[in-house]
Amino acid sequence: MIPTSVTMVEVGPRDGFQPIERFIPTDRKIALIDQLYDAGVRRMEATAFVSPRAVPQMADAPELLMYLRDKPGLDVQVLVPSQRQAERALAADATHLAFVLSASEAHNQSNVRRSPAESVEDLRAIVAMLPEGTELRINLATSFDCPFNGPVSAEQTLNLVETLLAAAPEAEVALCDTTGRVTPDRVGALFRSAKARLPQARWAFHGHDTYGLGVANVLAALGEGVDVVDASFAGMGGCPFAPGATGNVATEDVVWTLAAMGVRTGIDLERLLQAAGDAATLPGASVGGRVRDALSARSCQAAMA
Ligand code: ZN
Repeated sequence: MIPTSVTMVEVGPRDGFQPIERFIPTDRKIALIDQLYDAGVRRMEATAFVSPRAVPQMADAPELLMYLRDKPGLDVQVLVPSQRQAERALAADATHLAFVLSASEAHNQSNVRRSPAESVEDLRAIVAMLPEGTELRINLATSFDCPFNGPVSAEQTLNLVETLLAAAPEAEVALCDTTGRVTPDRVGALFRSAKARLPQARWAFHGHDTYGLGVANVLAALGEGVDVVDASFAGMGGCPFAPGATGNVATEDVVWTLAAMGVRTGIDLERLLQAAGDAATLPGASVGGRVRDALSARSCQAAMA
């Protein structure tokens, strides 16, 4: 049964901005985030605490976080790949950490230079130092498919999830289709097995639109009762460690679909489209999605009629 309301997690400011080489001035990021907030976005992966040398685009994480803290009702999660970066995030008063690791050994080595088992140790250390009330999410990259080794078995993914939840029982788990190669049948099947095996856990889905299956995969997750979905405005994104992966599923594509189905997201599509249109003009941004084009074609037709 598809949930009657869905929490959208806007990951554009992190997953979307991160691959853009030219630094986006912090003021410009803030202006775009403000537009998302005004459109009704209330949960966001706003930035990442990662090595500023490795990812200069995220170097302004502490400043961004300082600004975003004051927005009423906005749940700001920040990506952290290690204990050290979690320390930096907490020192900057982060209230919601998204710890990232990969189900596939090769991808985890390439992304964070650790084995998944070493990342589990990092997670244990992070849980031990979390102040009371800090929210924790686990972003499990390559939950379905690895850019280097191909399909990841449900068993491999869920064994790791079980270990992770033993270390962090309160965490929300986002199963991530990092490459965008997974198909809806496998999305549904993995969430079905996951829920059967770990019925207490809280789940989210994060998918990319590489093969045009972004929305279909979101619907497959929703069909299993998942009600937290990541998406990126203007379909921005990609992964420097997942060659060929295009952007995340576009937020406006998901919001349009869910609105048509009568599922609430709390997001105003017109305002979201304005934010997405602005983001699409960022130098070096690679954008995707269908709804922006479809609706501007519609207004074109209206103008000609
Ligand atoms: Zn992603």
